Amino acid sequence: MPDAFVFMHADFLIIGQGMAGTLLSDELMRAGKSVLIIDKKEVHNTSLAASAVINPLVGKNWTLAKDAERIIPVALETYYRLSELLQVDLVQQKSLLVFHRDDASRQNFSIQIQAGNPFIQEDYPTQRSAWDAPFGSGKVAPVYTIDAQSLLNKWALFLQSQNALIQEYFQFEELQFSGHAIRYKDITADNLIFCEGAIGRQNPFFPSLTFTHNRGDALLLSIPHLSHEHIYHKDFRLVPHRDHLFWCGSNYIWEYDSLEPNLEWRIETEIALKSWLKLPFETVDHWVAERPTTAGQQSLLLQHAQHKNIYFFNGLGTRGFSAGPSLAKEMVQLMLNV
Ligand SMILES: Cc1cc2nc3c(=O)[nH]c(=O)nc-3n(C[C@H](O)[C@H](O)[C@H](O)COP(=O)(O)OP(=O)(O)OC[C@H]3O[C@@H](n4cnc5c(N)ncnc54)[C@H](O)[C@@H]3O)c2cc1C
Repeated sequence: MPDAFVFMHADFLIIGQGMAGTLLSDELMRAGKSVLIIDKKEVHNTSLAASAVINPLVGKNWTLAKDAERIIPVALETYYRLSELLQVDLVQQKSLLVFHRDDASRQNFSIQIQAGNPFIQEDYPTQRSAWDAPFGSGKVAPVYTIDAQSLLNKWALFLQSQNALIQEYFQFEELQFSGHAIRYKDITADNLIFCEGAIGRQNPFFPSLTFTHNRGDALLLSIPHLSHEHIYHKDFRLVPHRDHLFWCGSNYIWEYDSLEPNLEWRIETEIALKSWLKLPFETVDHWVAERPTTAGQQSLLLQHAQHKNIYFFNGLGTRGFSAGPSLAKEMVQLMLNV
């Protein structure tokens, strides 16, 4: 007699382990549920290309984001807890040095100082001779950077240690239903959640959503003599990365038909940086990724209309690292009906 075929079973089968799948699987496991993730990283992986900055202020006027006081404490609590679990420092507290590009930009900043915005103050960087700053500068603090690479890699290792990660491409044709049970190859699951990022636009279970197309370029720069204490902001940002590297970006392109690096943007950015920063730098890489954005920047926490055990967690847009932890908690509450 042939051996009985052994199925792997999970309460929740999750497709995708970017920030959405990582944060959601963490919340589900904390709620005592078993998870299994299928993920295949792409070259243009959004969560790994991000600057991963958490900043309470938004827009040209540096006003407090309307939900900052709710989402930032939840984000920090989540990342510090994961740092302890994964034995790695995921959170760095920084200040954001803002170099005014003209009088109007300095004026916008001063208005916030006069209004008593607690996150903002006049300042000048300690490396004064490193910058060309004719309109002066100011400071936003505290802001935070998250080490996305360590978080995603360590979480993948943690999942592997629990036999909860399969690194392959999920194929819709292999999915079967029998009653409420979901079957995929040799896996059975009670629930299925799609966390596919921008590729989720093509998900056949959730068609006609309000997704827009949005891609961003980022450069990885080596700047050996620049302090890693701060994030530097003018028309674009320099964000401390690992070693002596800085993430530099980004742009927002809404119409495109490829994810090839935008060389024109790269040259413009390098020229602009040479006139702003007086220290030597070298470009070591050029990344491109799509933001999973929707019209009106609405996040997508959805349940399928017929298959009530199929869900969609997406639309994290430009705020996967800051709003992601609160949204993952909200999604788990929705699914577990608590
Ligand atoms: C240039 C740039 C800068 C950014 N900066 C910030 C920032 O400073 N702060 C902030 O909060 N946010 C920032 N963001 C936004 C943030 O990166 C996103 O909101 C977040 O990463 C989205 O995560 P996700 O898990 O939804 O998508 P993704 O990171 O794309 O993850 C989806 C995963 O699913 C996998 N997948 C998809 N389909 C399948 C399949 N069929 N089979 C197997 N695997 C599959 C993909 O390969 C991927 O691993 C930035 C984004 C960009 C592009």
